[in-house]
Amino acid sequence: MPIRVLAPHEAAKIAAGEVIERPASVVKELVENSLDAGATRIAVEVREGGLALIRVADNGRGIEPGELRLAFERHATSKVAAEEDLWRIATLGFRGEALPSIAAAGDVELISRVAGNDVGARVRLRDGEVDEEGSGAASPGTVFTVRRLFSSQPARLKFVRSPGSESTQVTSVISHYAMAYPEVRFELTVDGRVALQTPGNGSLTDAVAAVYGADVAAAAIEIDAPPEHEGAMGVRGVAVEPRLHRASRNYVGLYVNRRWVKNRALTFAVEEAYQGMLPVGRHPIAVLDLRIPPDEVDVNVHPTKAEVRLRDERAVFAALQRAVRRALSDSATVPPASPSLWVGGPAPSERPPLFMTQTPLPSTLLS
Ligand code: ADP
Ligand code: MG
Repeated sequence: MPIRVLAPHEAAKIAAGEVIERPASVVKELVENSLDAGATRIAVEVREGGLALIRVADNGRGIEPGELRLAFERHATSKVAAEEDLWRIATLGFRGEALPSIAAAGDVELISRVAGNDVGARVRLRDGEVDEEGSGAASPGTVFTVRRLFSSQPARLKFVRSPGSESTQVTSVISHYAMAYPEVRFELTVDGRVALQTPGNGSLTDAVAAVYGADVAAAAIEIDAPPEHEGAMGVRGVAVEPRLHRASRNYVGLYVNRRWVKNRALTFAVEEAYQGMLPVGRHPIAVLDLRIPPDEVDVNVHPTKAEVRLRDERAVFAALQRAVRRALSDSATVPPASPSLWVGGPAPSERPPLFMTQTPLPSTLLS
C-alpha cells in the first residue's frame, strides 16, 4: 500500500498524546515499523542509553524513494486504507505519528531500498526539517538512525534516567518483541557490546532461552490453546514451571495479537493461575500472546499503544487463566521428558480441567 496522509476526520480518531517519551519509545516505534515491513532480521544499536545513537536496521520491504519524505508527514501511513481499518487493526503501527515525532526529537537519517530497485534513497532531517536527500547505496531494507535525541528538548531530557537505566528499557523492548516474533532474528548492541541475540528460527523456547536463559527455557511449558469457538480467542506462548519465579511482575509478558501490552487485569489472571504454587511475594515467568479477532480489540486508546481495550475483558481473563492453569496442571502430571505436551494425547479441550474452581475476578481490576 502506498503511504498517504490520513484525512483530518480519520486523524481525529487517533488517540492523541506523546509518542516519544524516552529512548526506548523510539526503539519501540522503529522496531514496530520493521516488523510491519515484514523484516526477518532486525539489528538495533544504542549508545549512551540511546541519547547519542539509536540505529535500527532491517531487511524488510523498504520505502519507495518517492515516499521517503512523505513518511515524515504527520499522519502519513501506508497501513490504513480506509477509516474502517482503524477498528480492525492488524499492523503494529497505524497512525503515522512515529516518524514525525522522532524527527522532532532528534537528528534522523533514513536510508531505504525496496528489493526490486537498484539503488536506495536517503533523507536526513534536522529539527524536523529535511536538510539533505539523495540516493544511497544500501542493501534491501531500511536503516533508521537517530542522533542527539532530546538535545534541543531540555524538558524531555530531564525525565531521562541514567544511560544504564535507559539501556535496560531498550533491552526490555527488544526482548519482548523478540519473544513475540521468534521467526525474526534480533540483535541488540549496547555501547558496542552485543546485549541480546535471538536465533530467529521460529522457536519460542529458543527465543526465551536467549532472553531469560537456558534454565528458564528448560522449564517453559508450551501453550497453544486454539479458540474454543469462532470469534473466540486463542492463547499461545509459554508458562514457566512454578519452581522458577521472580521478585517482580515484569516477567509476565502479555501480548495481544503479537503486540506487547500492559494490562493489570490480565497480569493478575496469570498470577491467579499460579495461585498456591509460588512462594509468597514471588511472581511467575510467562510469555503469553492472546490471539483475539481484531474487531474485539481497540488498540487505538493509548498514545504509545501500550494499552488496549478489550470488548469482553472478562471472557479474555477467564480464557487466559484457563489456558495457563491447564498447562501447569498438565505439566504436573505428564513426565517432564515429554517434548511437546500435546503430541499424541487428546486435544486439550477434551481433557477435563484439573482445576474446576474459578477465582472470582476482583471488580477493581476491570475498570
Ligand atoms: P505508522 O507505522 O503508524 O504507519 P510511522 O510514522 O511509524 O507510521 O511510519 C510511516 C510510514 O513509513 C509507514 O506507514 C511505512 O509505510 C513507512 N515505514 C516506516 N518505517 C519503515 C520500515 N522500517 N520499513 C518500511 N517502511 C517503513
Ligand atoms: Mg510506525
